[in-house]
Amino acid sequence: MGTSIFSRIIARDIPADILYEDEHVVAFHDIAPQAPVHVLIVPREEISSIAALNHGHQNLVGHMVLTAQQVARDLGLDSGYRLVMNCGDDGGQTVWHLHLHLLGGRPMHWPPG
Ligand code: AMP
Repeated sequence: MGTSIFSRIIARDIPADILYEDEHVVAFHDIAPQAPVHVLIVPREEISSIAALNHGHQNLVGHMVLTAQQVARDLGLDSGYRLVMNCGDDGGQTVWHLHLHLLGGRPMHWPPG
């Protein structure tokens, strides 16, 4: 088990509002929501960022997206939502454990800033 704050959540060392988990991923509510629905889909494996992905992670990344789709359905985001993965400093990444943001419950704007 890694040492990131998300690994500590996955290990139940620190609390989070977990709404889904399986052998590959855990999904929980973001502590500082940027929309009425803001869920993070996090792999159990502590991969630092998109930049650290390799072809061996293809199924995992696909599973993260399909998990987000299922969570969005479960939460009734029928009129749409946004999936975001920030990568690196310029991408706005602050937690160095790969994660997919699921944002919904309001219209999203573009460009995102
Ligand atoms: P990013 O900036 O893309 O790395 O996103 C990291 C996200 O993790 C931010 O949206 C934070 O609000 C969120 N976050 C940080 N610590 C926690 C925590 N303990 N529980 C839930 N979400 C967290």
